[in-house]
Amino acid sequence: MGFKCGIVGLPNVGKSTLFNALTKTAAAQAANYPFCTIEPNTGDVAVPDPRLTAIAEVAKSAEIIPTRLTFVDIAGLVRGASAGEGLGNQFLANIREVDAIAHVLRCFEDDDVTHVANVVDPIADAETVETELMLADLESLERRSTNLRKRAQSGDKDAKTELALMDGALELLRDGRPARELEVAPEDRKAFKMLNLLTSKPMLYVLNVDEASAGTGNAISERAAKMAAERGAPSVVISAAIEAEIAQLPTDEQTDYLESLGLEEPGLDRLIRAGYGLLDLITFFTAGPKETRAWTIRAGTHAPQAAGVIHTDFERGFIRAQTIGYDDFITLGGETGARDAGRARDEGKEYRIVDGDIVHFKFAT
Ligand code: GDP
Repeated sequence: MGFKCGIVGLPNVGKSTLFNALTKTAAAQAANYPFCTIEPNTGDVAVPDPRLTAIAEVAKSAEIIPTRLTFVDIAGLVRGASAGEGLGNQFLANIREVDAIAHVLRCFEDDDVTHVANVVDPIADAETVETELMLADLESLERRSTNLRKRAQSGDKDAKTELALMDGALELLRDGRPARELEVAPEDRKAFKMLNLLTSKPMLYVLNVDEASAGTGNAISERAAKMAAERGAPSVVISAAIEAEIAQLPTDEQTDYLESLGLEEPGLDRLIRAGYGLLDLITFFTAGPKETRAWTIRAGTHAPQAAGVIHTDFERGFIRAQTIGYDDFITLGGETGARDAGRARDEGKEYRIVDGDIVHFKFAT
């Protein structure tokens, strides 16, 4: 199904550098001037998951196939973008298509790199970007509201629900708050999503620090992290420049380099996982001699729909899901061991997949 995380932020905060590191390609050219990323660049990245190796070892799989998350490098947003400044309209169209937002904030000082507002202040930057997003949402709702109000008055039930949600969002936005703060009843979530508001998308902050602070963060990123926490948003400290370097090294040299920097793992791994978490995604596995493979689903997905991610036939002809919990699979030595111990379960249509499940689907053709 492909989940997408958009990378946004003001020009020159390190988006392209980060994106390049993420995709290990030079597709998105990092250059020291605004608007260098004119087309959105899309890259699929493997989601790092140590469970894959552990399962593959037990199942004696020949190959390991991680699941993937799509990142989109979205062209530079500037003050006034909601009114069409810079690449405003294009930016808005691109960001509508992503499921979540990774908002990059510049937390590094570097006199050689121009800052669009001439001062490194991630909190002011965040406000500039978020104001543009809120203005865009306000404008889009106001444009639609007259029509919707008419439909609601004529007794259209869906329109009434939508209108209530819209009014709630408008109230927040007019108060300078993002639409994601609106409390939405579970039965209304779908309708709310249909409003397609930029500020209703889940967001995390990427705090891009200087090379020396990659492991620890710095005073600027600390302030930004505090702001993120106050807004209930996750944040990840990263040095995009370092990540770009790491990404270019052969794998065996990466570990040494990370160690020399005092890092346990690349910051990108933390970022990818944070993006995954933000989207409320979980992973299940299929394992056999041929391959161990990870699959992505939304938390709460039922077994037949999870099967459908592998193949539509699996969903259509779903009979049952032979399921082994991750810990059982590892400690009991795989499928046979788990079965002997009575820990291999036959699950039906109502079963909701649990993160880490190793599943074998039975289906009729
Ligand atoms: P974008 O406009 O947000 O896509 O920013 P870029 O990725 O093009 O980066 C703008 C400039 O900042 C480039 O010259 C990068 O080399 C530089 N830059 C990005 N990240 C870092 C960092 O972590 N440290 C330093 N010193 N420079 C960085």
